[in-house]
Amino acid sequence: MKKCILCGQLFVAKVSFIQLFSWHKQETKCICSNCQSKYMRIPDKHCPNCFGKLSQNKFCLDCINWQKIYGKKLLKNHSLYLYNEAFHDLMVNYKRYGDYALHKVLEELCREDLTKRQADLYVPVPTSPEHLEQRQFDTISSIYSNLVSLTCVLGKKAGLSAQGEKNRAERLRSEQSFFVKKNFTINLKKYKILLLDDIYTTGRTLYHARDALAEVFPNAKISSFTLCR
Ligand SMILES: [Zn+2]
Ligand SMILES: [Zn+2]
Repeated sequence: MKKCILCGQLFVAKVSFIQLFSWHKQETKCICSNCQSKYMRIPDKHCPNCFGKLSQNKFCLDCINWQKIYGKKLLKNHSLYLYNEAFHDLMVNYKRYGDYALHKVLEELCREDLTKRQADLYVPVPTSPEHLEQRQFDTISSIYSNLVSLTCVLGKKAGLSAQGEKNRAERLRSEQSFFVKKNFTINLKKYKILLLDDIYTTGRTLYHARDALAEVFPNAKISSFTLCR
């Protein structure tokens, strides 16, 4: 029996047949099925480019907006869950109140899906120096570091307000705050970079992160992955 991190109930963590005979480290579940069921998967009918809400058009309204700026150079994004009330509460406890233990829950919610997404570099969207100081841990790297090998090549400038504290219009107006850390070279001709973040809201953050990378790594095929959309 295991105790659910979220509700404290005891539950039986089932080990699958594949896991039983796997060479990989066995990961047992840390949340019960009742808690898990509160996080809703994005429905099959979603924006084919970013997993957003489908509109009357080919893409969602966010992507249509980005098309005006980027034309055909849209960022392809993959997300797993709807940002519902349960997810919002989870993220508030994790990020605002700095409950580090919850990184295990987030890790569990994306483990299977992320390990299926092959890339040469997995680049986490960085936390601002101020938030790192405040929380003492990097919220994005902590979710993904046990799942894939991270290349922390992006940095974030200090002294800018966080996206989470802004409304939609302010988010969209925010300026580029990412940069590629110096002395980073890659010895591959063609390669895939997967950007990792927690939530795709307007896409502003991920497009900025993509732009910063694309400038330094023009041969890279860059896409993104987030828990929520
Ligand atoms: Zn539970
Ligand atoms: Zn879209």
